[in-house]
This record gives sequence, C-alpha cells and structure tokens, in this order.
Amino acid sequence: MAPQNAQIGAGGGHAAGKVSTTIATSRRYRAGAVVLGDRAGTVHRDAALDVDDGRITWVGPAADAPPSDAPETRLPGLISPGLVNAHCHSPMTLFRGIGEGLPLNRWLSEVMWPREGRLAADDVRAAMRLASAEMLRHGITTSVEMYIYAPAVVDAVHETGARAMVMAPLLAAPGWEHLGTLDEQLERATRHAERVLDDPYVEVGIGPHAAYTVPLDILVKAAEATREHGMLLHIHVAETQGEAAELEREHGASVPRIMADHGILGGRMLAAHCVWMSDADLDLWAEYGVGVAHCPQSNAKLAAGIAPLVGMLERGIQVGLGTDGPASNNNLDLWEEIRLAAQLARLLSSDAGALSATDAFWLATGGSAAAVGRDDIGLLEPGRWADFCHIDTDDVAFIPVESDADLLTHLVWSAGSQHVRDTWVAGRQVVADGVCLTVDEPAARAEVRERAARLAQA
Ligand SMILES: [Zn+2]
Repeated sequence: MAPQNAQIGAGGGHAAGKVSTTIATSRRYRAGAVVLGDRAGTVHRDAALDVDDGRITWVGPAADAPPSDAPETRLPGLISPGLVNAHCHSPMTLFRGIGEGLPLNRWLSEVMWPREGRLAADDVRAAMRLASAEMLRHGITTSVEMYIYAPAVVDAVHETGARAMVMAPLLAAPGWEHLGTLDEQLERATRHAERVLDDPYVEVGIGPHAAYTVPLDILVKAAEATREHGMLLHIHVAETQGEAAELEREHGASVPRIMADHGILGGRMLAAHCVWMSDADLDLWAEYGVGVAHCPQSNAKLAAGIAPLVGMLERGIQVGLGTDGPASNNNLDLWEEIRLAAQLARLLSSDAGALSATDAFWLATGGSAAAVGRDDIGLLEPGRWADFCHIDTDDVAFIPVESDADLLTHLVWSAGSQHVRDTWVAGRQVVADGVCLTVDEPAARAEVRERAARLAQA
C-alpha cells in the first residue's frame, strides 16, 4: 500500500500532538444524486458538491452550481454524508466474539476487564488502526471513542485520516490498578485534552464509564473539567435494568435525577444507551440538552432491552446512532444500526410508520452530529467538513427509483456498507473502490491477530 499512501500525500501518520493538514485544493464532485443528511431528507438528483481546503463550499443540483474552474470528479452513484458513529470502543476489535452469550455484567467483569487490564498502548494503537480502516470502508468518517490509552487512539486516527472524538475513560476495575486512581485518571484525561484542543481531526473529551462504576464525586469533577474546557462528557446510562439499583436505592432517585441533583448535567453531555429511562428521566434529558447515543444492535445482542427512541425524538432529545464496541456488536457497521433502529422503533410501537426512512438515515448523519454536539460534520452543507462517501447505486438494492424519497428508502432498507465505494475525510480520499488507502489492512489484521492471541493468555 505504500505507493497509494504516497499518492494521497497530505496528512500521513505522525506523533501525537501534531496536526494533519487538509488538502488545500478545490474540487467539484458530480454525482447522480446527493443526500444531504438533514432531517427533511433533502435529495438532489444530478448534483454537484464543491470542496475547498477540506470544507464544503457549495452543494445542490448541478444545473444551479456556480461557475467553477476546479478539477471535476464524476461519481456515477450517490454522495452521502460520512456517517457519525456516536458511541464506540473501537480497539475492542482485539476481543471480537469473546465472551459470547454472557449478560453485560458478567461479560464485563469476567471476560473484558481482565483482558483489558493486560493491554498496552501499542495494542490499542494497532487495534484502533484496524478498526478505523473498517469504519472508513463502511463510510463512517467520525467515531466517538471511549477507551483506555486515549493518546494511542488519537495516534491511530491520525494515521488513518479518519475523524474522531476521543473520550479519555475513567474506570477502576480489578486488574486496572496500573492505570492509576480515578483522580489520577481524571487529571491525565484533562491534561491530554488540553494538549490536543486545536486538532482539526480529533476532539478530546472525558468518558467516565457509568454512575454505578465511578463515584459521584469523580463524576462531578469530570463534569466541571468538561464544562471548563467546553468538552464533551460521555457516559453510559441505563444500559441494563437494575445495573445501578444500589446507587438508586441509596439516593432514592434514578441515575438521571441523581446526576441532575449533583450538578453533573448542563454542559455538553452524551449518554450512551439510555434503555431503562422513565418518562421523567427523558424529560430531564430534554431539559438539560443531553444527547443520546442509541446502540440498538449491542442492546439486542446483550439482551439489555430496547431504548425508547420515539419518546426521545418526541421530546426533542438529540439522538445519534452508535455501534458500541466490536466485541458487543460484532462489527463496526452503522448501516446495520440504521435498519435495526427503524425495525425496533416500529416493533415497539406496533406502527409501520414509527420511524421513517428519512428519520432513520438522519439519525446516523445529521442527527448523530447534533447528538455529539458538532455543527461542522454529519451534514452536507457549505461550511461543514467535506466528510462524505460515494454509494454504488448500480445495484439491485436501488431498483426502482420513482422519486427522491425512494433513494432514502433504499439506503435504509436494502442498501448497506457493501455499497460504499469511496470515502473522503476533509476532502482527502481515504477509501477508493472499497480499499482503504491509508492502512495496509492485511498487515494490520495480522498484527491484531497476534496481539489478541497474546492478550488471551492470563
Ligand atoms: Zn459502550
């Protein structure tokens, strides 16, 4: 893959702290159609997308495009925004399929945490590199990551040319003593965040695991640190029934209520799962502007439950879609989440119109961007980053197309990651004809295979 790396030029791998450069050239992309990723489900046929210096400068019907002498790339299919994976632990690509059949509490404490206690930063870097390539091939251009050795996650993302929001985790599990006390982890997370505050590809935040695993005083300090720096606070909430029963009994209130009462809410906050939420809990999320990362496939696989997606959207809560880690999914394919989110919302409400194809697709694009608090990704509109993918529509999945809405219907109900041909991040092509240009995937697979085998040895 070295020649391909050389060919794409800017923004290769480098040490943490340095920043990739975008390609400072302008280009016009012409496509059979473009889907903007907005809530209205706007589709333009015979469309143009103008990119300059990594940002979108114009998008719409080609007939209305302003005069341009920029070089032109013709794409026969459809241009979609890059998908935004709102919740993930991508380096768990080291543990795919391990602990199959266990419920969440036993899966974490008996299988995952002991293995993760043996991880080194190099393991995380290698696993993130492979996972990032997988996501880029699936048209996911941004992922929200929560994993130990956050600087290694940042390094890997710089190598692959993806975009990420990297949440330094807080968790004290048996076998994790070498990662320091929670106070030490919080201090390290804050220092790391301050170092990479102005990186155009990576945003850093803090990711305490959950209210039932991280003491409230630490959550309060983490919330204060994120508010002070305008960072995202990302946490698992109400993933499984009864997971926080002891804490809730002690306080006589639900976890969302406890968080509100302790001043933890109010900044930029993203809560993963939110399956076991009462109406009052959902009202609190709406009141405090808490975004939700809905992970239906992980919730189904671990028998956690079905999150009240429709109730969230009715309250105006910003919801995005997440794959969760590849060890509880078992892949990093957000297209599967789009379809399952729609299926479960309809099943739960016995209403075939409960979540339209337009809404389902928006959840993975503009909706996810809003949930993670970003107005510079997720949608194709002037001023946002040129993060997009090219979908092959010359396939049975896209026949017939009688109206613009049919394109969204097909994207949700019959297409999938296998139709993603090419991917760009900040105007730089990182996937061409299904091949990730920035990662030697056979070598990356071999490395993760070898490291996974070592980590399995207790
Ligand atoms: Zn998670």
